[in-house]
Amino acid sequence: MAEVRFDNVTIRYPGADSPTVEGLNLSIPDGEFLVLVGPSGCGKSTSLRAIAGLEEVESGAIYIDGEDVTGWEPAQRDIAMVFQNYALYPHMTVAGNMAFALKLAGEDKSVIERKVAEAAELLGLTPYLDRRPKDLSGGQRQRVAMGRAIVRNPKVFLMDEPLSNLDAQLRVQTRTELAALQRRLGTTTIYVTHDQVEAMTMGDRVAVLKDGELQQVAPPRELYDRPANAFVASFIGSPSMSLMPSEHPSLGRVIMGVRPEHVRVVDPNTAGEPAASAGTGSEGVSLDVVVDIVEELGSESYVYAHPSGGGDLTIVAKLHSGPSPAPGTELQFKFDHAHAHFFNPETGVRVDA
Ligand code: ADP
Ligand code: MG
Repeated sequence: MAEVRFDNVTIRYPGADSPTVEGLNLSIPDGEFLVLVGPSGCGKSTSLRAIAGLEEVESGAIYIDGEDVTGWEPAQRDIAMVFQNYALYPHMTVAGNMAFALKLAGEDKSVIERKVAEAAELLGLTPYLDRRPKDLSGGQRQRVAMGRAIVRNPKVFLMDEPLSNLDAQLRVQTRTELAALQRRLGTTTIYVTHDQVEAMTMGDRVAVLKDGELQQVAPPRELYDRPANAFVASFIGSPSMSLMPSEHPSLGRVIMGVRPEHVRVVDPNTAGEPAASAGTGSEGVSLDVVVDIVEELGSESYVYAHPSGGGDLTIVAKLHSGPSPAPGTELQFKFDHAHAHFFNPETGVRVDA
């Protein structure tokens, strides 16, 4: 069990003009499940590997349990990592794979057996202890990889996209199991993913990274409700928040952001609002739009449209039920100020009315 802290950490790969991670300040309290999320190449794996001692820190420091471990060897840090490619030893059984690190460490046979049995029980792997990896499903293999980490009882788990090799359905199931398991173990966990849904559903808090810089760290709900800038606003949530240039009485020129569920859809031909529309009437903005495409998901649909007046904006509205408009249909979208987000048009930073 341990707190992990990045103190103004900058990491630069040899020969690179700019740092891959710049001035990272982030404190992860004991027992937290923190998710690091961001687009591919933003420096997530690099940050994670630096905790393990696998990347050199150019400036700043990394603390584990209050101790500056920046210069420590990986083996000294008492950390277990689970990667996307959790290559299991194919010639070893499940039990053999889980026991391997403990054997290397010279642990007693009886202790190893007990720890492997406990981890197998926790992971639902007890019936499979004598199988080889090739005779397991993808999800079971992933659990063996977790088991290898758990038996070591480390201070910190580091996980780098550990579910990426699973198919979509199994990924959803496994992420729930993994989050529940972490809560039972109470081990500080730092989990990297590029998938914002994974981040939102698993993390106690989510840290959003872009181009090596931390954008915001907050509990999932807060990220969604109060994104600190336009990048976080559009990265978190699917479909993305629509962002459009606008004027606000007290703020002047702004970027206005509206999530699909906060767009009210009005059909000018019937002059009524379909029962399906979201939100309540109040002061706001209306925009005439033309429907481009509709994504029908069964319980809801998403209407992608552009302003009738031109411009290359796409605005997305969520409809809960009822008939979906055909492409080419002219509609009116209404945005309530109460549900809109505003960002500085130059810096992208959130501004509050
Ligand atoms: P992410 O995990 O967020 O996708 P990475 O941390 O793997 O991103 O990489 C961040 C950036 O650092 C990328 O531009 C990548 O090309 C670069 N990078 C990663 N590893 C190395 C390396 N060993 N040498 C040089 N550049 C690297
Ligand atoms: Mg990565």
